[in-house]
Amino acid sequence: MPDHTEQSAKLFDRASTVTPGGVNSPVRAFRAVGGVPRFMASGDGCHMTDVDGNRYLDLVSSWGPLLLGHAHPEVIAAVQAAVARGTSYGTPTETEVLLGEEIVARTPVDKVRLVSSGTEATMSALRLARGFTGRAKIVKFAGCYHGHVDALLAQAGSGVLTLGIPGTPGVTEATTADTIVLPYNDQAAVTAAFAEYGDQIAALITEASPGNMGVVPPRDDFNAFLAKICKDNGALFVSDEVMTGFRITRSGWYGVDGVRPDLMTFGKVMGGGFPAAAFGGRADVMAHLAPEGSVYQAGTLSGNPVATTAGLTTLRLATDEVYAKLDETSLTVQRLVSTALDKEGVPHVISAAGNLFSVFFVESSEGSAEIRDFTGANAQVLPRFTAFFHAMLDAGVYLPPSAFEAWFVSAAIDDDALSELESALVPAARAAAA
Ligand code: PLP
Repeated sequence: MPDHTEQSAKLFDRASTVTPGGVNSPVRAFRAVGGVPRFMASGDGCHMTDVDGNRYLDLVSSWGPLLLGHAHPEVIAAVQAAVARGTSYGTPTETEVLLGEEIVARTPVDKVRLVSSGTEATMSALRLARGFTGRAKIVKFAGCYHGHVDALLAQAGSGVLTLGIPGTPGVTEATTADTIVLPYNDQAAVTAAFAEYGDQIAALITEASPGNMGVVPPRDDFNAFLAKICKDNGALFVSDEVMTGFRITRSGWYGVDGVRPDLMTFGKVMGGGFPAAAFGGRADVMAHLAPEGSVYQAGTLSGNPVATTAGLTTLRLATDEVYAKLDETSLTVQRLVSTALDKEGVPHVISAAGNLFSVFFVESSEGSAEIRDFTGANAQVLPRFTAFFHAMLDAGVYLPPSAFEAWFVSAAIDDDALSELESALVPAARAAAA
């Protein structure tokens, strides 16, 4: 049971002197929940061990990539063999071709370009959409995160239609002036935006099923509606599957609703724990990308041989049986959480999209309390999550340190791990009730 954090605290102090906030990606700092972020030393299967020797059941899975769990022996062996051959050549390699073929086989994209992060994927997809259409405006939804692309860091205000206002200092108004931010799952708002700006919109980008305001799935026909309104207006429909791709099904959320986008973005699972991501789509659109076309896009480490080996090995191991197991495990975890919270009378809603889910501590858990947009996600009682999170951590379960994140199960979770979870939930539910 994690009861000492001295080494993590020391490392955090040292990290804070050389790195802003002591972390290299903000949510890792525990700012939303308080306390000392745990510095991990190793991982095996569904567990991680920190520098103080505390062992945790991991329900974050590196924010999605570790579909198979930590240090999967076949992934490690393939990576070791790749590293021994060389780490980067700055030339094409066979593994890039194999990973490209695997992605094309699993998804509706005709062609794909490999990059190193999800941010690069969405940034490049939008540049391509603008180059292809000759238009400037981009539509996005409040609460959808597409990486830290300047033009996409515009937050929503209230009202039906909010023209982009930069969500962070350092992003100029000029950069977001062409970004239109709309409420999620709101067809009327989308219709109004296209009525006003239809001939100026290059692309609409959406998370295929949002997971960055917590898990908030699309209403049944929402993605089909988005694809159609884009087509009718000559705009491209860009589906961001960085989080959902190769996680929810063999392809991603596409495997659930079958709505064919013009462009898609991928990341996380396809890198197998290494920096690899991609964007792809219609052959006629992708043909506009350099060197075939004139829209420039490049990367020194794009298609890196070690990263593509990790991704390819992970995808090859991600069989239908693995997806069935992930679904079953996710349902069991959801059931255990709900049962524990119900027992302590803690109001909550579990919102799921395939094996991705979030626990929302909203006051009303009546049937009508489905979370459908950013406003709904924001109605949470955050202190309940904080208490729950820390009690889980103390009991050896690592959850996302924010109430606005998805929980990620891995195929390495077994019955023993589920028993650990069940025990941890007893004090955690009590803490959330207090
Ligand atoms: N798009 C979505 C849907 C994401 O969830 C993320 C990251 O969480 C990104 C894009 C950005 O990916 P990265 O962090 O690799 O830049």
